[in-house]
Amino acid sequence: MKTGIIQDQIYLEHLRGLGHIESPRRLEVVYEMLDTIFSGQLFHLPSRAATFEELASIHTPDHIHRVAGTSGRNLVSLDPDTQTTAHSYEAARQAAGGVLSLVDALLHQEIDNGFALVRPPGHHAEAHRAMGFCLFNNVAIGAAYARCQHGLERILVIDWDLHHGNGTQHSFWNCPEVLYFSTHQYPYYPGTGGLDETGGKEAPGLTVNVPLSSGYLDEDYAQIFERILVPIGRQFRPDLILVSAGFDTYYEDPLGAMMVTPQGFARLTRLVMGLARDVCHKRLLLVLEGGYHLEGLRQSVRAVLQELTGPSLLTPEETQRDCRPDLPIVQRVWSVQQNYWKRME
Ligand SMILES: [Zn+2]
Repeated sequence: MKTGIIQDQIYLEHLRGLGHIESPRRLEVVYEMLDTIFSGQLFHLPSRAATFEELASIHTPDHIHRVAGTSGRNLVSLDPDTQTTAHSYEAARQAAGGVLSLVDALLHQEIDNGFALVRPPGHHAEAHRAMGFCLFNNVAIGAAYARCQHGLERILVIDWDLHHGNGTQHSFWNCPEVLYFSTHQYPYYPGTGGLDETGGKEAPGLTVNVPLSSGYLDEDYAQIFERILVPIGRQFRPDLILVSAGFDTYYEDPLGAMMVTPQGFARLTRLVMGLARDVCHKRLLLVLEGGYHLEGLRQSVRAVLQELTGPSLLTPEETQRDCRPDLPIVQRVWSVQQNYWKRME
C-alpha cells in the first residue's frame, strides 16, 4: 500500500520550550522512528497552510482572528489548558492544511491511505473557541473540505482518542452527511459524549458515542469496533473514513486509565481498514490527536503504520472475530442506537 505521510518541522515550534505535556517531543520521537524504521517506505507529502475560508468552514471568524492574533507573541493562554507560542498559529494552519493535502492526494489516487502526523491536535476545538490543547479542528476541517472541494456525499469520522471529541461532534451535530463515532473515557474531560447524545434533528443517529469507564483492553476495543462501528459503518456507507487517532488510551499514558497496547492499535487499524475496503474503496486517513507517553506513542504509531503499509504483523488469533459474550457497553449502545440502525451480525 502507498501510505502518505504529513510531517513538518513547523509542528515542532508550537509550545517549544514551555514544558507543556502536549510537547514537541511527541512528534520528535515519532519522526525519528519514521526515519529509522520506515525509511523510503512512506510517501511524504508537503503540508500547506489552510486558508481563512477553509478554517471558516468550521470556525467563526472571531476565533480565527483570535488565534491569528497570538502570532509572534511568546505566550498566550486561550483557556486553562491551551496555550500558544510565537509560531503556534502558523503550526495550527499547517496542521489543518496538512490534512487537506492528504485528502487531495487520496482523492487524486496518489496514495492508498495516509497519516497526518501533526500538532497541535484538533478534536476539542469548537467553532468559536480553542480548548483542550486544540486550536483548529483538523479532522472536522478535513471532512468539510472533502465534501465541498471533492463533492463526497458521506464521511465517517472515527475518534479513538481517550477523550471525547466535543468539537467534532458539535461541528456535525446537525449534518446528515457526517457520522461521528467516538470511544472515550467517561465521565472525564471534556464532559460531553454521553450515550444519549445521538445527533441533532437533522442528523438523528449520526452521532454514536461509546462512553467507557476505565481499564478497557485491546480485545474490548476490538469488540466495540466489530459489533458497533462496523455494522453502523456498513449501513452508513461513507465515501471516506477519517480517524481522530489519539494514543492516550495506551496503558501507561499519564492522562488515561485505559489498557491499550500497540498491538491493540494495530488491530483497530486493521478493523477500520476492513470497513474502508468494504464500503469506500479503502479510502482511509488518520490524523494524530493525543498520546502523552512518548515511548507508547512511538510504538503505537509504528504499529498503525505497519498495518497501513502492510504486510500486517498481527497473528491470525489477533485478527479473528471475537467470540466472547457482548460487553455490557455494547448492549447499552445498541439499546440507544437500535432506534437508528439495524444490528447486523
Ligand atoms: Zn486525548
